[in-house]
Amino acid sequence: MDAQLVDQEAVARAVDAIEKALGTDAVLRSRADLDEFRDPFWVLGSDDNDVAAAVMPASVEEVQAVVRIANEFKVPLWTVSTGRNYGYGGASPRVPGSILVNLSRMNRVLEVNSELGYAVVEPGVRWFDLVDVLEDHGGEWWSSIPDLGWGSVIGNSLEYGRGHTRIGSHAENVVGMEVVLPNGELMRTGMGAMEGNRAFHAYPFGFGPMVDGLFFQSNMGIVTQIGWRLMKRPEKYASCWVHFDGDEIIVPVIDAMRELMLDETINNYPFLGRGVAANAEGRPDLDPNSQKWALRFALYGYDEIVEAKWRIVERVLGAIAGVEIGHKMYDGTDRVGPLDGIHDDKVQAGIPGMELLDLYKVPFGPDTGHLDFSPVGPLIGAEVLKMIRMVRSMYEEFGEPYAAGCMLLPNSILVVSVMFFDPKDAEKTKRIYDNYDPMLKRIAAEGYGLYRSHIFKMDAVAATFDFNNHAYLRFVETIKDAVDPNGILQAGKQGIWPQKLRAQRGR
Ligand SMILES: Cc1cc2nc3c(=O)[nH]c(=O)nc-3n(C[C@H](O)[C@H](O)[C@H](O)COP(=O)(O)OP(=O)(O)OC[C@H]3O[C@@H](n4cnc5c(N)ncnc54)[C@H](O)[C@@H]3O)c2cc1C
Repeated sequence: MDAQLVDQEAVARAVDAIEKALGTDAVLRSRADLDEFRDPFWVLGSDDNDVAAAVMPASVEEVQAVVRIANEFKVPLWTVSTGRNYGYGGASPRVPGSILVNLSRMNRVLEVNSELGYAVVEPGVRWFDLVDVLEDHGGEWWSSIPDLGWGSVIGNSLEYGRGHTRIGSHAENVVGMEVVLPNGELMRTGMGAMEGNRAFHAYPFGFGPMVDGLFFQSNMGIVTQIGWRLMKRPEKYASCWVHFDGDEIIVPVIDAMRELMLDETINNYPFLGRGVAANAEGRPDLDPNSQKWALRFALYGYDEIVEAKWRIVERVLGAIAGVEIGHKMYDGTDRVGPLDGIHDDKVQAGIPGMELLDLYKVPFGPDTGHLDFSPVGPLIGAEVLKMIRMVRSMYEEFGEPYAAGCMLLPNSILVVSVMFFDPKDAEKTKRIYDNYDPMLKRIAAEGYGLYRSHIFKMDAVAATFDFNNHAYLRFVETIKDAVDPNGILQAGKQGIWPQKLRAQRGR
C-alpha cells in the first residue's frame, strides 16, 4: 500500500475537529492506546496497518459529526462496532493511516419485543450484553450467537457472520436498519423509511428496492441500529453429534444431513470439524493431526417433537456404516449448570462464551494467530469431499496441518479451514498469508468463491468474482462513487475502491 496515500496533516486537522465536536474522551491518539486496534493475527509489532487515531462517538449525532468532518477534510474512516473481527483483520483498516471509528460506546439494547421476538440494538452491543438483557427479560427468547461472545451483533451480522442455532444465518436476522450515509445523512431502511412506522423491525421489506444488502460487507454507510430476530426458547433442546474416522464417510453423512435439513427434521446450522471439533464428551478438542471427523447439530422443540426427531435422526444417520452417534437432552431453561464450559452445547443454545479462543491458543501459546480459508460449495456429499480433498492437498503441499470447521446450510456448505501460526515469527506469518493466493486461484478455477476474507486478501477475492468482465464490481463501484464521492468510508473493503483510490487495488 502506498505510504503517502493518506494526507496525514489533513487527518491530524480532522481529528482535532472531531475532538472539538465529541470531547477529548472520545479520541485516542497515543501509540499505546492505538496498539489495541492492531490485527493480533498479523506479524506481532508490525505497524503495517496502523490507524492514525481512534474516535469513539457515543450517539448517532456524533457519528454524523465524524462523517461530516471526514468529508470536509477528505480523510478516510474505517468503522468497527467492537473490532473483534479476529481472523479477518481485527480492527485494522484496509488503508493505513485511516481514522478508526469505534462504535463500542453505542452499546444500548434499545428494545426487546417479547411478543414479536426481536431486539433493537446499537453497534456496541456484544453477544454477552444482549443475552444478559434477554435473561433479564425472563429468558423466553434466545439469540443466535457465534463462537465467541465478545464481538458485536451488528459487526458480526454485517460480515455475513454465522451462529449455530435455528436462526444462525445472522445476516438474515437483520430486520430494518438505521444508517449514517457517507454524506452524514441518516436513513432508515424497509418500513423504517416511513416516519413512525409500526412494523420497522417486524417486516423485512419496504416499498421499492431492498437496499439493506448494500450495507453488508460494504463501505456504503455506518450502521447505527438494527432490528434483530430472536428464537423462542424451546421446551427441549438436544445437542447431537456424529463421529467417524476417514474422509469417505463424509459423502453419505453430508447427503443424509441435506435430506434431514431440507425436510426440517434438523433446523439449526450444523458444524463439521476435524482438528477443531468436539470430542466424545462434547468438549472441543483441538488437534490438527487428528484423522477424526466430528459433526454436531441440534434439535429443538416440545419434548415429544425432539424425541421423535431424534428417533428419525438415529434411524437415518445410524444406518451409515462407520459412524457413531449420540445426543444429550437439555431443558430450554438450562442456561447455566449442565452446559457450563461445554462449548458445543452452549453455542447451539445461544449461550455466549470464550472457550474456543482459549482452545485456539493451544498450537503456539497466547499469541497464536490463524487465517481462515473459506470457499462455499453446494451441499452434495461427493462435491464436499472433492473440495475438502482439494483444500487439504494444498495444506499438505505447504507443509501445514489441516484443520477444518465447515458450516452446513440446507443447500450449501462453507468449507472453512484454518491455518495456525505464531505471529512472533514474521517470516512464517508472511508465508501463511502468501500461501493463501495460490489456494484462492486454484479453488476459484474449480468454481468456488469465498464467503469472507482477511482485509489483505479482499482485492484478490473480489477479483475472482469475474462474471462478464467483473460486471458486479463495476456496478457496486458505480454506486460507491455516487454515494461517497470523497471516498471517505472504508476504502478497499471487499475490494470496493472509491474513484480517487482505485489505483490502490491489489497493492
Ligand atoms: C476462535 C474464533 C471463533 C470464531 N467463530 C466465529 C463464528 O462462530 N461465527 C462468525 O461469524 N465468526 C466467528 N469468528 C470471527 C469473528 O471473531 C467474529 O465474527 C466477530 O464477532 C467479529 O467481530 P465484531 O463483532 O467485533 O466485528 P467488528 O470488528 O466490529 O466488525 C467487523 C467488520 O464489519 C464492518 N462493520 C462493523 N460495524 C459496522 C457498522 N456499524 N457499520 C458499518 N460497517 C460495520 C467493518 O468492516 C468491520 O471491520 C471467530 C473468530 C475466532 C478467533
